Amino acid sequence: MPIWGVVNQKGGVGKTTTSVNLAAGLAAEGKRVLLVDADPQGNATTGIGVDKSNLEAGLYDVFDALVADPDASTAASGAVLPQVMPGLDLIPATLDLAGAEPLLAGAVGKEMILRDALEPLRARYDWIIIDAPPSLGLLTINVLAASDALLVPLQCEFYALEGLSHLVQTISLVKRRINPSLHIAKVVLTMHDDRTNLSRQVAEDAREHFGSQVSQAVIPRNVRLSEAPGFGQPAIQLFPESRGALAYKSLVKEVLSECAVL
Ligand code: ATP
Ligand code: MG
Repeated sequence: MPIWGVVNQKGGVGKTTTSVNLAAGLAAEGKRVLLVDADPQGNATTGIGVDKSNLEAGLYDVFDALVADPDASTAASGAVLPQVMPGLDLIPATLDLAGAEPLLAGAVGKEMILRDALEPLRARYDWIIIDAPPSLGLLTINVLAASDALLVPLQCEFYALEGLSHLVQTISLVKRRINPSLHIAKVVLTMHDDRTNLSRQVAEDAREHFGSQVSQAVIPRNVRLSEAPGFGQPAIQLFPESRGALAYKSLVKEVLSECAVL
């Protein structure tokens, strides 16, 4: 059903933490969810407890198959690791995903390969979440072209809004040229510290800029969220009562009540 990309070209703003916990949270609510790791760093893959060095196939192989043969419609399902958690499947990133951009660069319809790859899987899942890398390169453009809607994590730090105009411009260009229904579903404030004026100021600026697109759920800076990936589990599952997990649970509820098509 819906395909959501989690994007922001700024590094370390909480894309992966949000992707993993949102995907796990939706799965815990009984949805069938596919998480796609489109970042060569493979943090979502590791964070969900999958050892990258032991994988037979990952997203790179999907790109490789589709670039070689546009009719390779089973490529993506061949890379799916089923049930990495109950209700949650994963297309992992392996280290060779770093070679995807040069591979895609030579392909006809280079922006559309991920969209083509995921289309046959859409009907199998209630939600597909794609974790994007911290750049606006071809991988991210593929994520934008493949997504129905976007989630933009915004770290509550100085410079948070800087660079966002570049992202918004890129989104509108992709919308105009490739993917007319693309829109930002939610801007999610992350690493918020309500004791600091800076966090409050960023939250205020974001709400002024993006209005109701900013989620009601605000993700606090919470050490449990950063510890959980080391155990190969989403915080929402491992530390369910932590402030971070509770915030992601309210994001899941918000997304389900406002954005669900089911
Ligand atoms: P990249 O751009 O490198 O892919 P990212 O945008 O995916 O980064 P994350 O990996 O989710 O960002 O987060 C960056 C770091 O901050 C990680 O170490 C993560 O564990 C930590 N982190 C994320 N969100 C929080 C939070 N709310 N509180 C505390 N730590 C957090
Ligand atoms: Mg990441």
